[in-house]
Amino acid sequence: MTVEQRRHLATEIPGPESRKRLELKRTWVADGVGTVLPVFVVEAGGGVLVDVDGNSLIDLGSGIAVTTVGNAAPAVVRRITEQAQAFTHTCFMVTPYDGYVDVCAALAELTPGDHAKKSALFNSGAEAVENAVKIARRATGRTGVAVFDHGYHGRTNLTMAMTAKAMPYKHGFGPFAGEIHRAPVSYPLRDGLSGAAAAERAIDVLEKQVGADQLACVVIEPIQGEGGFVVPASGFLPAIEQWCRERGVLFVADEIQTGFCRTGDWFACEDEGLVPDLVATAKGIAGGMPLAAVTGRAEVMDAVHVGGLGGTYGGNPVACAAALGAIEAMRSLDLVARAREVGSLMERRLRAIAADHPVVAEVRGRGAMQAVELCRPGSTEPDPARTAAVSSYCHSQGVVTLTCGTWGNVLRFLPPLVIGDALLEEGLEVVAEAMTATR
Ligand SMILES: *Cc1c(COP(=O)(O)O)cnc(C)c1O
Repeated sequence: MTVEQRRHLATEIPGPESRKRLELKRTWVADGVGTVLPVFVVEAGGGVLVDVDGNSLIDLGSGIAVTTVGNAAPAVVRRITEQAQAFTHTCFMVTPYDGYVDVCAALAELTPGDHAKKSALFNSGAEAVENAVKIARRATGRTGVAVFDHGYHGRTNLTMAMTAKAMPYKHGFGPFAGEIHRAPVSYPLRDGLSGAAAAERAIDVLEKQVGADQLACVVIEPIQGEGGFVVPASGFLPAIEQWCRERGVLFVADEIQTGFCRTGDWFACEDEGLVPDLVATAKGIAGGMPLAAVTGRAEVMDAVHVGGLGGTYGGNPVACAAALGAIEAMRSLDLVARAREVGSLMERRLRAIAADHPVVAEVRGRGAMQAVELCRPGSTEPDPARTAAVSSYCHSQGVVTLTCGTWGNVLRFLPPLVIGDALLEEGLEVVAEAMTATR
């Protein structure tokens, strides 16, 4: 690892060189493309980002759960380099190559269930979700799609309709795709329901307001990402899955944020033994290269006519090489086990912070996907202002933190799994400082 693993502030954040570039960004880049922490990065690795002013920042976000194996991970760089020197594109739909097939074989092995599986590869998470819906509709001959409150599935037209939160994802961008039906999710902090009761509530909405026989699929994040790292009460997901089975509705897991070791399993569905009909993956799959997949029961995947799935760049050979490198690193470094270690370290530190700060209504998550939800003390009234203040204090001290949640009142922590314990502790120490400084 060439990037020195330390936090170091050479200037204020953002520094003068980043500020100059920010002016260029204002000139040339559409304002709609925002940035959370406007330092311009020149190098990154392990748990550190280095910017143009020579600042080294601790990365607790992994570029939104993408660089799980670390930035510029050696196995990823080696395979990308070899592939880029050999060829960069043919279009798999024109002339195929090994990398695509090898990624699909790896997905069949790694995703939950030991049934026959096949995959199709795409460029982004949203594209994977869209294709999962296409496949489910073709396989069932039905059109309805069930999604959940606080769900996030992307920013394309279909996936905007599936995403719950209006601002900033949907506001003014309609009309949206039809046949999308939203059900209440299990959100233990806010509904206090058992998994079984929350599932009954959701199923009642789907049965009475939509009709099971109208539904092609239920699409659900096993732990909601953008929606606030909402972990459903145990039993909720298995009950939804079982209802899907009984009613001929396909159970589609959106594991785009939770997948590839993040939660301390290869996939979050494993925690309760769920076996989805289709799984959408992206983010952590390829060490930072754009790649996404739909993996599912062979007979469901094969319901689509030849030529019905694809795209010019889907499963690009360099992205596939990166995925094979990332999977190699996850295996050789045992990142499933590492995610559990990182998770228990984070949970311990976050619980200590919560004990000192009544604004923390809940610490939740699984493995290396942990969050704190901030509410007015003694209530569940969201406190987005405090959340933003804590996050920007962390940024000013050289720690990259992200927020999420329907009310913007959740601080989420998704460090690369190759971060060292000392650096992670230091990052969380800054979070603790930020809580005190913003009191
Ligand atoms: C990020 C995300 C998406 C969309 O992925 P993109 O690659 O940004 O299109 C979909 N679902 C979940 C759960 C995500 O976290």
